Amino acid sequence: MLLIPCPWCGPREQTEFSYGGEAHVVRPPDPDSLSDAQWADYLFMRQNPRGRHLEQWVHTYGCRRWFNAVRDTVTYRISAVYGPGERAPDAGT
Ligand SMILES: [Zn+2]
Repeated sequence: MLLIPCPWCGPREQTEFSYGGEAHVVRPPDPDSLSDAQWADYLFMRQNPRGRHLEQWVHTYGCRRWFNAVRDTVTYRISAVYGPGERAPDAGT
């Protein structure tokens, strides 16, 4: 069982959460100026690291609030959670 530490509710089972994709993907300020390839890159291309990954999660069946998590894609270990708009903790935390 994977426990995810919601910043507001504490540790809960993973089944209460929904994955929201990679964190810190910045929307281009002027999408109309982008080529189709650049727009497709923004929409679809994401990192797929082996190891530390910054992710968005929502506590769907709890407080329904969004947050970010630092999760290792190999071990599934979540080393940190932090609020939307906050900076990611340094590696190794
Ligand atoms: Zn919660």
